[in-house]
Amino acid sequence: MKENVFDREAKVIRNARLKLAEGVFLKKSGEQHYKDLLGEYEKVVRQSKRLLKMGDRMQHALSSLNEELQLREQTYRGIFENATEGIYRTDANGVLLEVNAALAAMLGYETPQECLEQVSEMECFFQSAQAVRQYNNVLRNKLVVKTMHAKFCSADGGYVWVEINAGAIESQSEEGRKLAGVVGVVADITERKRMMREMCRLARTDCLTGLWNRGYFVELAAQEIARCKRFSNDLSILLVDIDYFKRVNDDYGHDVGDKVLVGVADILRETLREVDVVARFGGEEFVVMLPDTCLTAAHCAAERLCDAVRKHDFSYDRHRAINVTVSIGVTAYENSSMSFDLLLKRADTAMYAAKHNGRDRVEYCPADPVV
Ligand code: GH3
Ligand code: MG
Ligand code: MG
Repeated sequence: MKENVFDREAKVIRNARLKLAEGVFLKKSGEQHYKDLLGEYEKVVRQSKRLLKMGDRMQHALSSLNEELQLREQTYRGIFENATEGIYRTDANGVLLEVNAALAAMLGYETPQECLEQVSEMECFFQSAQAVRQYNNVLRNKLVVKTMHAKFCSADGGYVWVEINAGAIESQSEEGRKLAGVVGVVADITERKRMMREMCRLARTDCLTGLWNRGYFVELAAQEIARCKRFSNDLSILLVDIDYFKRVNDDYGHDVGDKVLVGVADILRETLREVDVVARFGGEEFVVMLPDTCLTAAHCAAERLCDAVRKHDFSYDRHRAINVTVSIGVTAYENSSMSFDLLLKRADTAMYAAKHNGRDRVEYCPADPVV
Protein backbone atom coordinates (compact mmCIF):
# COMPACT_ATOMS: atom_id res chain seq x y z
CA MET A 1 0.00 0.00 0.00
CA LYS A 2 1.31 3.47 -0.83
CA GLU A 3 2.28 5.44 2.27
CA ASN A 4 0.50 8.71 1.37
CA VAL A 5 -2.82 7.33 0.09
CA PHE A 6 -4.74 8.56 3.13
CA ASP A 7 -2.78 11.83 3.64
CA ARG A 8 -5.74 14.02 2.69
CA GLU A 9 -8.08 12.21 5.09
CA ALA A 10 -5.47 12.48 7.88
CA LYS A 11 -5.21 16.20 7.21
CA VAL A 12 -9.00 16.61 7.35
CA ILE A 13 -9.05 14.78 10.73
CA ARG A 14 -6.15 16.86 12.09
CA ASN A 15 -7.87 20.15 11.12
CA ALA A 16 -11.18 18.99 12.61
CA ARG A 17 -9.48 18.12 15.92
CA LEU A 18 -7.74 21.50 15.90
CA LYS A 19 -11.03 23.23 15.36
CA LEU A 20 -12.53 21.29 18.30
CA ALA A 21 -9.58 22.21 20.52
CA GLU A 22 -9.93 25.89 19.59
CA GLY A 23 -13.56 25.67 20.77
CA VAL A 24 -15.10 27.11 17.60
CA PHE A 25 -18.52 25.75 18.50
CA LEU A 26 -20.77 28.10 20.46
CA LYS A 27 -23.41 25.53 21.08
CA LYS A 28 -22.64 22.31 22.94
CA SER A 29 -25.07 20.28 20.72
CA GLY A 30 -23.29 21.45 17.55
CA GLU A 31 -19.96 20.42 19.02
CA GLN A 32 -21.32 16.96 19.90
CA HIS A 33 -22.67 16.45 16.31
CA TYR A 34 -19.32 17.51 14.96
CA LYS A 35 -17.50 15.07 17.29
CA ASP A 36 -19.83 12.17 16.28
CA LEU A 37 -19.36 12.91 12.60
CA LEU A 38 -15.61 13.10 13.07
CA GLY A 39 -15.67 9.77 14.95
CA GLU A 40 -17.61 8.11 12.07
CA TYR A 41 -15.28 9.65 9.52
CA GLU A 42 -12.24 8.27 11.38
CA LYS A 43 -13.86 4.81 11.47
CA VAL A 44 -14.50 4.87 7.72
CA VAL A 45 -10.91 5.90 7.09
CA ARG A 46 -9.63 3.06 9.33
CA GLN A 47 -11.84 0.54 7.52
CA SER A 48 -10.70 1.82 4.15
CA LYS A 49 -7.09 1.41 5.24
CA ARG A 50 -7.79 -2.19 6.31
CA LEU A 51 -9.56 -2.95 3.02
CA LEU A 52 -6.72 -1.49 1.06
CA LYS A 53 -4.20 -3.61 2.99
CA MET A 54 -6.32 -6.72 2.35
CA GLY A 55 -6.48 -5.89 -1.35
CA ASP A 56 -2.73 -5.52 -1.38
CA ARG A 57 -2.27 -8.94 0.23
CA MET A 58 -4.68 -10.56 -2.27
CA GLN A 59 -2.87 -8.95 -5.15
CA HIS A 60 0.39 -10.32 -3.81
CA ALA A 61 -1.04 -13.83 -3.37
CA LEU A 62 -2.50 -13.70 -6.86
CA SER A 63 0.76 -12.76 -8.49
CA SER A 64 2.67 -15.51 -6.67
CA LEU A 65 -0.02 -17.97 -7.73
CA ASN A 66 0.37 -16.73 -11.26
CA GLU A 67 4.13 -17.17 -11.06
CA GLU A 68 3.74 -20.71 -9.74
CA LEU A 69 1.25 -21.50 -12.48
CA GLN A 70 3.65 -20.25 -15.13
CA LEU A 71 6.44 -22.31 -13.58
CA ARG A 72 4.28 -25.42 -13.58
CA GLU A 73 3.19 -24.80 -17.16
CA GLN A 74 6.85 -24.44 -18.17
CA THR A 75 7.77 -27.63 -16.29
CA TYR A 76 4.89 -29.54 -17.95
CA ARG A 77 5.85 -28.13 -21.36
CA GLY A 78 9.47 -29.12 -20.77
CA ILE A 79 8.52 -32.67 -19.85
CA PHE A 80 5.93 -32.89 -22.64
CA GLU A 81 8.20 -31.64 -25.39
CA ASN A 82 11.52 -33.18 -24.34
CA ALA A 83 10.37 -36.58 -23.03
CA THR A 84 11.69 -39.55 -24.94
CA GLU A 85 8.48 -41.38 -24.09
CA GLY A 86 5.22 -40.54 -25.80
CA ILE A 87 2.70 -38.38 -23.94
CA TYR A 88 -0.92 -37.68 -24.85
CA ARG A 89 -3.76 -35.72 -23.33
CA THR A 90 -7.44 -36.25 -24.05
CA ASP A 91 -10.68 -34.66 -22.94
CA ALA A 92 -13.23 -36.59 -20.88
CA ASN A 93 -14.60 -38.24 -24.04
CA GLY A 94 -11.25 -39.51 -25.22
CA VAL A 95 -10.82 -36.84 -27.91
CA LEU A 96 -7.09 -36.24 -28.38
CA LEU A 97 -6.06 -32.72 -27.41
CA GLU A 98 -2.28 -33.07 -27.46
CA VAL A 99 0.41 -35.58 -28.39
CA ASN A 100 4.09 -34.87 -27.98
CA ALA A 101 6.79 -35.20 -30.63
CA ALA A 102 8.00 -38.51 -29.16
CA LEU A 103 4.59 -40.17 -29.52
CA ALA A 104 4.16 -38.81 -33.04
CA ALA A 105 7.60 -40.14 -34.04
CA MET A 106 6.97 -43.49 -32.32
CA LEU A 107 3.92 -44.02 -34.54
CA GLY A 108 5.65 -42.80 -37.70
CA TYR A 109 4.21 -39.26 -38.01
CA GLU A 110 6.42 -36.31 -38.94
CA THR A 111 4.93 -33.93 -36.37
CA PRO A 112 2.42 -33.97 -33.50
CA GLN A 113 0.08 -31.90 -35.71
CA GLU A 114 0.14 -34.53 -38.44
CA CYS A 115 -0.64 -37.20 -35.85
CA LEU A 116 -3.61 -35.23 -34.48
CA GLU A 117 -4.92 -34.64 -38.01
CA GLN A 118 -4.92 -38.38 -38.72
CA VAL A 119 -5.99 -39.64 -35.31
CA SER A 120 -8.74 -37.70 -33.59
CA GLU A 121 -9.60 -40.03 -30.72
CA MET A 122 -7.52 -42.02 -28.29
CA GLU A 123 -9.27 -45.28 -29.15
CA CYS A 124 -8.19 -44.97 -32.81
CA PHE A 125 -4.61 -45.62 -31.62
CA PHE A 126 -5.51 -49.15 -30.52
CA GLN A 127 -5.34 -51.96 -33.03
CA SER A 128 -7.97 -54.14 -31.34
CA ALA A 129 -11.45 -53.33 -30.04
CA GLN A 130 -10.76 -55.59 -27.09
CA ALA A 131 -7.81 -53.41 -26.00
CA VAL A 132 -10.03 -50.30 -26.26
CA ARG A 133 -12.59 -51.96 -23.95
CA GLN A 134 -9.85 -52.94 -21.48
CA TYR A 135 -8.38 -49.39 -21.44
CA ASN A 136 -11.77 -47.73 -20.95
CA ASN A 137 -12.89 -50.20 -18.28
CA VAL A 138 -9.73 -49.79 -16.19
CA LEU A 139 -9.86 -46.00 -16.48
CA ARG A 140 -13.54 -45.87 -15.53
CA ASN A 141 -13.12 -48.17 -12.53
CA LYS A 142 -9.68 -47.25 -11.20
CA LEU A 143 -9.00 -43.83 -12.76
CA VAL A 144 -5.47 -45.05 -13.60
CA VAL A 145 -4.06 -47.42 -16.19
CA LYS A 146 -0.86 -49.12 -15.12
CA THR A 147 1.57 -50.90 -17.48
CA MET A 148 -1.10 -51.92 -19.98
CA HIS A 149 0.43 -53.60 -23.03
CA ALA A 150 -1.28 -53.07 -26.37
CA LYS A 151 -0.66 -52.68 -30.07
CA PHE A 152 -0.93 -49.10 -31.41
CA CYS A 153 -1.56 -48.58 -35.15
CA SER A 154 1.32 -46.83 -36.86
CA ALA A 155 1.15 -44.39 -39.79
CA ASP A 156 2.44 -46.98 -42.28
CA GLY A 157 -0.40 -49.42 -41.52
CA GLY A 158 1.70 -51.58 -39.20
CA TYR A 159 1.71 -51.57 -35.43
CA VAL A 160 3.91 -50.71 -32.46
CA TRP A 161 3.80 -52.60 -29.16
CA VAL A 162 3.35 -50.06 -26.38
CA GLU A 163 3.12 -49.91 -22.61
CA ILE A 164 0.57 -47.35 -21.39
CA ASN A 165 0.52 -45.63 -18.01
CA ALA A 166 -2.31 -43.12 -17.77
CA GLY A 167 -4.28 -41.23 -15.18
CA ALA A 168 -7.59 -39.40 -15.12
CA ILE A 169 -7.67 -35.64 -14.48
CA GLU A 170 -10.65 -34.72 -12.32
CA SER A 171 -12.22 -31.32 -11.84
CA GLN A 172 -14.06 -30.16 -8.75
CA SER A 173 -17.38 -28.42 -9.32
CA GLU A 174 -20.52 -27.80 -7.31
CA GLU A 175 -21.93 -31.15 -8.46
CA GLY A 176 -18.79 -32.87 -7.15
CA ARG A 177 -15.72 -34.33 -8.85
CA LYS A 178 -15.97 -35.14 -12.50
CA LEU A 179 -13.65 -36.49 -15.20
CA ALA A 180 -12.03 -33.64 -17.07
CA GLY A 181 -9.59 -35.63 -19.18
CA VAL A 182 -6.75 -38.13 -19.25
CA VAL A 183 -2.96 -37.78 -19.45
CA GLY A 184 -0.98 -40.84 -20.49
CA VAL A 185 2.62 -41.89 -21.04
CA VAL A 186 3.41 -44.36 -23.82
CA ALA A 187 6.62 -46.40 -24.11
CA ASP A 188 7.61 -48.32 -27.24
CA ILE A 189 8.15 -51.93 -26.12
CA THR A 190 8.27 -53.55 -29.57
CA GLU A 191 11.91 -54.54 -29.11
CA ARG A 192 11.28 -55.78 -25.54
CA LYS A 193 8.41 -57.94 -26.84
CA ARG A 194 10.56 -59.33 -29.63
CA MET A 195 13.33 -60.17 -27.18
CA MET A 196 10.88 -61.82 -24.79
CA ARG A 197 9.50 -63.93 -27.65
CA GLU A 198 13.03 -64.84 -28.71
CA MET A 199 13.99 -65.72 -25.12
CA CYS A 200 10.88 -67.91 -24.80
CA ARG A 201 11.71 -69.60 -28.09
CA LEU A 202 15.32 -70.19 -27.01
CA ALA A 203 14.22 -71.53 -23.64
CA ARG A 204 12.03 -74.05 -25.47
CA THR A 205 14.35 -74.97 -28.29
CA ASP A 206 17.28 -77.34 -28.62
CA CYS A 207 20.05 -75.14 -29.99
CA LEU A 208 21.73 -77.82 -32.13
CA THR A 209 18.74 -79.20 -34.03
CA GLY A 210 16.19 -76.39 -33.65
CA LEU A 211 13.63 -78.93 -32.38
CA TRP A 212 11.70 -78.35 -29.15
CA ASN A 213 13.66 -79.34 -26.06
CA ARG A 214 12.69 -81.88 -23.42
CA GLY A 215 11.20 -79.33 -20.98
CA TYR A 216 8.84 -77.80 -23.51
CA PHE A 217 7.87 -81.20 -24.88
CA VAL A 218 6.81 -82.30 -21.39
CA GLU A 219 4.71 -79.11 -21.09
CA LEU A 220 3.01 -79.71 -24.47
CA ALA A 221 2.47 -83.40 -23.71
CA ALA A 222 0.75 -82.58 -20.41
CA GLN A 223 -1.64 -80.24 -22.26
CA GLU A 224 -2.33 -82.85 -24.94
CA ILE A 225 -2.97 -85.61 -22.39
CA ALA A 226 -5.42 -83.32 -20.55
CA ARG A 227 -7.26 -82.87 -23.88
CA CYS A 228 -7.27 -86.66 -24.42
CA LYS A 229 -8.79 -87.17 -20.97
CA ARG A 230 -11.47 -84.59 -21.66
CA PHE A 231 -12.41 -85.47 -25.24
CA SER A 232 -11.25 -89.14 -25.41
CA ASN A 233 -8.89 -88.30 -28.27
CA ASP A 234 -6.26 -90.70 -29.58
CA LEU A 235 -2.59 -89.94 -28.90
CA SER A 236 0.62 -91.84 -29.61
CA ILE A 237 4.23 -91.39 -28.60
CA LEU A 238 7.38 -92.44 -30.48
CA LEU A 239 10.80 -92.70 -28.85
CA VAL A 240 13.52 -92.57 -31.50
CA ASP A 241 17.13 -93.50 -30.68
CA ILE A 242 20.02 -93.47 -33.16
CA ASP A 243 21.73 -96.84 -33.38
CA TYR A 244 25.40 -97.13 -32.48
CA PHE A 245 25.75 -93.37 -32.50
CA LYS A 246 28.85 -93.54 -30.32
CA ARG A 247 30.60 -95.20 -33.25
CA VAL A 248 29.73 -92.26 -35.53
CA ASN A 249 31.46 -89.91 -33.10
CA ASP A 250 34.38 -92.29 -32.67
CA ASP A 251 34.85 -92.93 -36.41
CA TYR A 252 34.14 -89.46 -37.86
CA GLY A 253 34.48 -87.03 -35.00
CA HIS A 254 32.05 -85.09 -32.83
CA ASP A 255 31.36 -82.46 -35.52
CA VAL A 256 30.13 -85.05 -37.97
CA GLY A 257 28.15 -86.63 -35.11
CA ASP A 258 26.44 -83.25 -34.64
CA LYS A 259 25.64 -83.07 -38.36
CA VAL A 260 24.07 -86.52 -38.22
CA LEU A 261 21.92 -85.37 -35.29
CA VAL A 262 20.76 -82.35 -37.31
CA GLY A 263 20.13 -84.61 -40.33
CA VAL A 264 17.96 -87.01 -38.32
CA ALA A 265 16.08 -84.03 -36.79
CA ASP A 266 15.35 -82.72 -40.33
CA ILE A 267 14.07 -86.12 -41.44
CA LEU A 268 11.76 -86.27 -38.42
CA ARG A 269 10.40 -82.80 -39.24
CA GLU A 270 9.95 -83.54 -42.94
CA THR A 271 8.46 -87.02 -42.59
CA LEU A 272 5.89 -86.19 -39.92
CA ARG A 273 2.82 -83.95 -40.04
CA GLU A 274 2.83 -80.29 -38.96
CA VAL A 275 0.63 -81.10 -35.98
CA ASP A 276 3.06 -83.70 -34.69
CA VAL A 277 5.34 -82.43 -31.95
CA VAL A 278 8.99 -83.41 -32.33
CA ALA A 279 11.61 -82.82 -29.64
CA ARG A 280 15.19 -83.74 -28.90
CA PHE A 281 14.87 -85.64 -25.66
CA GLY A 282 18.59 -85.71 -24.94
CA GLY A 283 21.82 -86.96 -26.56
CA GLU A 284 20.89 -88.97 -29.66
CA GLU A 285 17.33 -89.58 -28.56
CA PHE A 286 14.20 -87.91 -29.95
CA VAL A 287 10.58 -88.05 -28.88
CA VAL A 288 7.50 -87.48 -31.02
CA MET A 289 3.92 -86.85 -29.98
CA LEU A 290 1.29 -87.74 -32.59
CA PRO A 291 -2.08 -86.17 -31.68
CA ASP A 292 -5.27 -87.91 -32.91
CA THR A 293 -3.25 -90.99 -33.88
CA CYS A 294 -3.99 -94.56 -32.82
CA LEU A 295 -1.29 -97.19 -32.20
CA THR A 296 -1.63 -98.73 -35.69
CA ALA A 297 -1.27 -95.37 -37.47
CA ALA A 298 1.63 -94.43 -35.18
CA HIS A 299 3.33 -97.74 -36.01
CA CYS A 300 3.04 -96.92 -39.75
CA ALA A 301 4.50 -93.44 -39.19
CA ALA A 302 7.39 -94.96 -37.21
CA GLU A 303 8.11 -97.47 -40.02
CA ARG A 304 8.14 -94.57 -42.50
CA LEU A 305 10.65 -92.77 -40.30
CA CYS A 306 12.88 -95.83 -39.98
CA ASP A 307 12.93 -96.20 -43.77
CA ALA A 308 13.59 -92.51 -44.36
CA VAL A 309 16.61 -92.47 -42.01
CA ARG A 310 18.05 -95.69 -43.42
CA LYS A 311 17.72 -94.40 -47.02
CA HIS A 312 19.04 -90.92 -46.33
CA ASP A 313 22.46 -90.06 -47.65
CA PHE A 314 24.50 -89.01 -44.63
CA SER A 315 27.81 -88.06 -46.24
CA TYR A 316 29.69 -85.01 -45.02
CA ASP A 317 32.86 -83.34 -46.25
CA ARG A 318 35.26 -85.93 -47.61
CA HIS A 319 33.74 -88.77 -45.60
CA ARG A 320 32.11 -91.66 -47.37
CA ALA A 321 28.40 -92.17 -46.71
CA ILE A 322 27.68 -92.96 -43.07
CA ASN A 323 25.20 -95.69 -42.24
CA VAL A 324 22.62 -94.25 -39.89
CA THR A 325 19.63 -96.15 -38.58
CA VAL A 326 17.19 -95.62 -35.73
CA SER A 327 15.30 -97.84 -33.31
CA ILE A 328 11.79 -96.67 -32.45
CA GLY A 329 9.49 -97.55 -29.58
CA VAL A 330 5.78 -96.81 -30.08
CA THR A 331 3.02 -96.56 -27.55
CA ALA A 332 -0.48 -95.07 -27.42
CA TYR A 333 -2.66 -93.38 -24.86
CA GLU A 334 -5.32 -95.90 -23.96
CA ASN A 335 -7.28 -94.74 -20.96
CA SER A 336 -7.67 -91.83 -18.60
CA SER A 337 -5.49 -93.43 -15.93
CA MET A 338 -2.40 -93.11 -18.16
CA SER A 339 0.03 -90.38 -17.22
CA PHE A 340 2.78 -88.91 -19.39
CA ASP A 341 5.40 -90.73 -17.30
CA LEU A 342 3.69 -94.04 -17.91
CA LEU A 343 3.43 -93.37 -21.65
CA LEU A 344 7.12 -92.56 -21.73
CA LYS A 345 8.07 -95.67 -19.80
CA ARG A 346 6.10 -97.77 -22.24
CA ALA A 347 7.71 -96.07 -25.25
CA ASP A 348 11.13 -96.64 -23.64
CA THR A 349 10.39 -100.31 -23.05
CA ALA A 350 9.34 -100.66 -26.69
CA MET A 351 12.45 -98.80 -27.90
CA TYR A 352 14.74 -101.11 -25.90
CA ALA A 353 12.87 -104.08 -27.36
CA ALA A 354 13.70 -102.68 -30.82
CA LYS A 355 17.38 -102.43 -29.81
CA HIS A 356 17.27 -105.94 -28.39
CA ASN A 357 15.61 -107.32 -31.50
CA GLY A 358 18.35 -106.10 -33.84
CA ARG A 359 18.00 -102.26 -34.12
CA ASP A 360 16.81 -100.35 -37.26
CA ARG A 361 13.27 -101.40 -36.41
CA VAL A 362 10.02 -100.42 -34.74
CA GLU A 363 8.48 -102.11 -31.71
CA TYR A 364 5.36 -101.20 -29.85
CA CYS A 365 4.75 -101.69 -26.20
CA PRO A 366 3.53 -105.18 -25.29
CA ALA A 367 -0.13 -105.42 -24.29
CA ASP A 368 0.74 -106.01 -20.68
CA PRO A 369 3.92 -104.05 -20.23
CA VAL A 370 6.28 -104.45 -17.34
CA VAL A 371 6.46 -100.94 -15.96
P1 GH3 B 1 22.68 -97.75 -29.05
O1 GH3 B 1 22.49 -98.32 -30.40
O2 GH3 B 1 22.60 -98.81 -28.00
O3 GH3 B 1 21.82 -96.61 -28.78
O4 GH3 B 1 24.18 -97.22 -29.01
P2 GH3 B 1 24.67 -95.74 -28.98
O5 GH3 B 1 26.11 -95.72 -29.29
O6 GH3 B 1 23.85 -94.93 -29.88
O7 GH3 B 1 24.35 -95.30 -27.53
P3 GH3 B 1 25.29 -94.75 -26.39
O8 GH3 B 1 24.33 -94.33 -25.30
O9 GH3 B 1 26.32 -95.76 -26.03
O10 GH3 B 1 25.96 -93.51 -27.01
C1 GH3 B 1 25.32 -92.31 -27.26
C2 GH3 B 1 26.36 -91.33 -27.72
O11 GH3 B 1 25.77 -90.11 -28.13
C3 GH3 B 1 27.34 -90.99 -26.63
C4 GH3 B 1 27.47 -89.47 -26.69
O12 GH3 B 1 28.79 -89.05 -26.74
C5 GH3 B 1 26.77 -89.13 -27.97
N1 GH3 B 1 26.17 -87.82 -27.94
C6 GH3 B 1 25.24 -87.37 -27.04
N2 GH3 B 1 24.93 -86.10 -27.31
C7 GH3 B 1 25.68 -85.71 -28.38
C8 GH3 B 1 25.81 -84.49 -29.13
O13 GH3 B 1 25.17 -83.48 -28.87
N3 GH3 B 1 26.65 -84.49 -30.18
C9 GH3 B 1 27.39 -85.59 -30.50
N4 GH3 B 1 28.22 -85.53 -31.56
N5 GH3 B 1 27.30 -86.72 -29.80
C10 GH3 B 1 26.47 -86.80 -28.77
MG1 MG C 1 21.73 -94.72 -29.44
MG1 MG D 1 20.39 -93.31 -26.35
